[in-house]
Amino acid sequence: MRVSYLIKPELIELREVPKPSPAEGEVLLKIEAALTCGTDLKAFLRGHPLIPMPGPFGHEFSGTVAEVGRGVKKFKPGDCVMGVHTAPCLHCAYCQKKAYNLCVSLMETKILGAYAEYILIPSQIVKQNLYHKPSNLSFEEAATLEPLSCVVHSIDGLNLKGNKSLIIGCGPIGFLHLLCLKLKGSQVLMTGLEMERLQLAKELGADMVTAPSDLDMALEDFSEGLGVDYVFECTGQLDVWERSIRYVRRGGQIILFGGTKKDLIVTYDTYRLHYDEITLRGSFHFKPKDVKKAFELLYNGLKVGFLITDRFGLTDLSVAFKKLAKGKGLKYAIIP
Ligand SMILES: [Zn+2]
Ligand SMILES: [Zn+2]
Repeated sequence: MRVSYLIKPELIELREVPKPSPAEGEVLLKIEAALTCGTDLKAFLRGHPLIPMPGPFGHEFSGTVAEVGRGVKKFKPGDCVMGVHTAPCLHCAYCQKKAYNLCVSLMETKILGAYAEYILIPSQIVKQNLYHKPSNLSFEEAATLEPLSCVVHSIDGLNLKGNKSLIIGCGPIGFLHLLCLKLKGSQVLMTGLEMERLQLAKELGADMVTAPSDLDMALEDFSEGLGVDYVFECTGQLDVWERSIRYVRRGGQIILFGGTKKDLIVTYDTYRLHYDEITLRGSFHFKPKDVKKAFELLYNGLKVGFLITDRFGLTDLSVAFKKLAKGKGLKYAIIP
């Protein structure tokens, strides 16, 4: 079978490797659609601490079950399925605290290699995070389960109804936040660099959109001078992380979704943090219950198809990432 390897930044090699056969509890999946993701783009451009090189990559996928290992009851060959690339161990100290997204072995046991003809799904994922694809979803839409799970986790537990949110960043993650926040009844101001994407945000239900250069003015208007209840940082840019605190109201919360490079330090105004009682919250990955919620959102018809702006074959993976790097398109489907 053919598998794409990221050898070093900007070098992808399509390798022929033996097709694995599933051991007990495992499922061998024939990939029908894999999606590009900001994490993969970072890895392609400069390497990524969680994506070893050289190694297979790609982690958003859907497909058809090709073969199942002993003991697998829920799935059989021919089933259309969708899933994510991790599942917690359920035993470690973090899992015992139900902080499943912080499970110590989560990243070690993750599966990469969705830009391939087949992928082997380990038993802990089969048990916890693999679902039958509903027929109303295309394989491409089904493959958005992973980023949507991250966003479901990001907004988990927030009091959004009737409250005001600012989303900074008009990438796929910003848009998924927009869809989820509108569903939860929040009013949304969205900001990003490209006019075309701001227009799309309006069409998707954003109450107000603005270029970053006019953000202060728009915010004044949107929040009647108070600041928003929630700021969602979806750019992963250091200066935006720091600036985010300017837009939140007293008692509000900043959700830091966009991961930055390693070893960066941010500075915040202690007066604002303390006397204005502002909460800074990181958001990383997802728990199985977030995946379940994301699955239900898709099952119930959340429209995510607009995120996929073009399609490429396995041999054109480099071309796809080079286009993404130029800011063209939101997400691409890779069809093996
Ligand atoms: Zn992703
Ligand atoms: Zn664990």
